[in-house]
Amino acid sequence: MTQPYPYEAPVSQRLFDRALQVTPGGVNSPVRAFGAVGGTPRFMVSGQGAWLTDADGRDYVDLVCSWGPMILGHAHPEVVEAVRSAVARGTSFGTPVEGEVALAEEITARIAPAEQVRLVSSGTEATMSAIRLARGFTGRAKVVKFAGCYHGHVDALLAAAGSGLVTFGLPDTPGVTGAQTGDTLVLPYNDLEAVRAAFAAHPGEIACVITEASPGNMGIVPPAPGFNAGLKELCETNGALFISDEVMTGFRTSRAGWYGVEGVAPDLMTFGKVMGGGFPAAAFGGRADVMAHLAPVGPVYQAGTLSGNPVATAAGLAQLRLLDPAAYERIDATSLRLQALVTEALGKEGVAHRVQTASNMFSVFFTDEPVRDFDDAKSQDSFRYTAFFHAMLAQGVYLPPSAFECWFVSTAHDDRALDRIAAALPGAARAAAGATPDNA
Ligand code: PLP
Repeated sequence: MTQPYPYEAPVSQRLFDRALQVTPGGVNSPVRAFGAVGGTPRFMVSGQGAWLTDADGRDYVDLVCSWGPMILGHAHPEVVEAVRSAVARGTSFGTPVEGEVALAEEITARIAPAEQVRLVSSGTEATMSAIRLARGFTGRAKVVKFAGCYHGHVDALLAAAGSGLVTFGLPDTPGVTGAQTGDTLVLPYNDLEAVRAAFAAHPGEIACVITEASPGNMGIVPPAPGFNAGLKELCETNGALFISDEVMTGFRTSRAGWYGVEGVAPDLMTFGKVMGGGFPAAAFGGRADVMAHLAPVGPVYQAGTLSGNPVATAAGLAQLRLLDPAAYERIDATSLRLQALVTEALGKEGVAHRVQTASNMFSVFFTDEPVRDFDDAKSQDSFRYTAFFHAMLAQGVYLPPSAFECWFVSTAHDDRALDRIAAALPGAARAAAGATPDNA
């Protein structure tokens, strides 16, 4: 495998070498290691608006936005000020604080089905707690999830589809036992028939169906028209809860996330990323009668030393308050401009591709076939993405280091940022066109 990386990042490389000594793979979250694309992961030292600067002093237009949270760009002055002022008052009290009430009020005011929310510190905790609550509320054990949907590293949800449509999930990773995934059913995405069959095969046993509101973790694969509504109906008919994971889409695809786009009301929802303003804050919430089963009012236990942390809630609240309708209009327009630029550049070079969107979230698949589920997503020419990614990186555009990720834009992506991307795209499209599975 020869990958001609046409540029160097010696300081990042030195930092990565140090990191490899003390941290497995040198990173604290696997995708950061550039495993899918090769090369030296960039160590960033600062971010301002749409731009990141790495340890070698090179700048990049950032199309990852910390995997979603930085929807106003980096170091937005009002968010920074809210954090500065919160930090100065103390960083954690282990008592209730007004900021967590205000953040919960902001969330519930935006999203009608979230009648009550409980704050936690990560999306993983949010989905883990929502599943526990659904099981506690229904008194049932089984959980339906969809192949290609990611809900964090919750043991029960790190399950891969077995053979056949209605099988129990198999552990997706060593360390997760068959017992932990034995009550998880993994079904193909966008396939209501498979869900119907699962309910028929397990009457009275399924506690909940959890889905990404609009999946972004296999690239963007939006729900087919009627899919989410069908899930809700099947759950209702069968006495199960419908959980919509809005950790990625929440407060991004609209003021009210994907719920605001589609209007299908789930029983429970999960949130993270944008609502933390770049700090660890997440939430799960939904029907008040279901949430009433949580401790301390109900029997389902759930807790967190840093839940509702005053600094994180201050950052999240400041960010959400700045996300007015004009902000979403701006992000939507920027996303459309960017999609057009990518399509034009790849089209000129005759590279088979599809830009798939979910509101302002989008990703580029290197195939011209529609991508409706995880199997479709995996069938793309991802080796072309490797070449494309490195050509963009060399020209100062930071894309997600995997072909299966969403591209994120912020309100800070302005003409200057888009000009940098436009200038980089033709060369990257040529690189994608010239890529072969061997030189990726
Ligand atoms: N749910 C979805 C849809 C996500 O995209 C993610 C993270 O990417 C998670 C849950 C897990 O969130 P966290 O990484 O904060 O644990």
